[in-house]
Amino acid sequence: MRITERIHMITDAEESVNAVFLATEWGSIVIDTMRTPKDGELLKEHVNANTAKPIRLVINSHFHGDHTFGNTAFSAPKVATEATRKLMNTRLLDSWREIAGDVPIPLPDITFTDRLDIHTSRRTIQLREVSGHAPGTLIVYIPEDSIVCTSDLIFSGRLPFMADADLAQWIRTLKDIESMNIEHVIPGHGAPGSVDIITEQRTWLENFRDQAKAVLQKTPDLDLAAKKMAQQLDAPTDRLDMLSRTLANLSEEV
Ligand SMILES: [Zn+2]
Repeated sequence: MRITERIHMITDAEESVNAVFLATEWGSIVIDTMRTPKDGELLKEHVNANTAKPIRLVINSHFHGDHTFGNTAFSAPKVATEATRKLMNTRLLDSWREIAGDVPIPLPDITFTDRLDIHTSRRTIQLREVSGHAPGTLIVYIPEDSIVCTSDLIFSGRLPFMADADLAQWIRTLKDIESMNIEHVIPGHGAPGSVDIITEQRTWLENFRDQAKAVLQKTPDLDLAAKKMAQQLDAPTDRLDMLSRTLANLSEEV
């Protein structure tokens, strides 16, 4: 899906996760690599079919496997925050082995903390480390195009994955992004949109947090509380584990 002439959003066959490619004068930059090595290959084919220039750089927005397990498809250097590299090399090892056996996990080659700017002749591509969804998450902000790729700070039109979340920070980060000069927002999951999808996600998280705190006060047992929240949200049963991990993090705040 073309967002601007030089920026495309690509969604996998199951429409479960998004990746982005930016065409620059020195080649393409890919943001996130989808959930499997095979999906990474399909993403690479798509990028190569849409630009004659080589893929120069791959960005991993955060450590979750649905954004990093396609890294094997790309020979270009991968850049991520230091925290993302560390978390991939610890938290992801078991799930990586399940899908790839003895193949080493494809870790980022270049790491940074806080902020990294990539300068091309027409634009500055700002990688900014932010808090909320998962430790080490980065957003990609391109002021010249008024565009922000928020990764999993936004699940557009679907239940967000909150098991590694700090909800208070997440809400604060979204408020910061809302105040930026933005026309196009590309989320980690779901349809792209305007700044409205940031506001929608923030208000959804605020409501979720208030409901969850109310449930936790009456029902301290995390699994029972997760069941109650799943009912209130009409969430599928395979989300129960995610919800109880989310509530466990939140119960430290209540
Ligand atoms: Zn994620």
